[in-house]
Amino acid sequence: MDNITTIFKEKKLKLTPQRIAVYMYLRSTKEHPSAETVYKALHKDYPTMSLATVYKALKTLVEVNLVTELNVGEGNFRYDGQTAPHPHIQCISCGKVDDIEGISFDELNDSIKDYTDFQVLSNKIYFYGLCNECKDQYNYENGY
Ligand SMILES: [Zn+2]
Ligand SMILES: [Zn+2]
Repeated sequence: MDNITTIFKEKKLKLTPQRIAVYMYLRSTKEHPSAETVYKALHKDYPTMSLATVYKALKTLVEVNLVTELNVGEGNFRYDGQTAPHPHIQCISCGKVDDIEGISFDELNDSIKDYTDFQVLSNKIYFYGLCNECKDQYNYENGY
């Protein structure tokens, strides 16, 4: 909460109740929700907040680095209130996105230096698989 107040003040942005609500919701969940999911989750408490407002709030929060935008393919964006770099894994069956905790791939930035002229600043690691709820069904249907 202090974080968002300070950052918005620094950037001279208006800290609206909607922006706070979107941020607090993302901080409170590990689900990596889409804009639609955020909209639905906040609709009960903020019945006048439109989907467009949610999109705008997310865009602003991403711009000031309080929220990370994940492109999970097909123009499908998910939002993460955890901005420290961490790898993700997505279920190819239901689309659920999970954090992978306790491992860092920062050393990768160093190891690829010999393969590029670029100055390497960061990387994004994405794994794909089957979540606990989906793997039995998937393996059954695909004969694994
Ligand atoms: Zn799944
Ligand atoms: Zn995450």
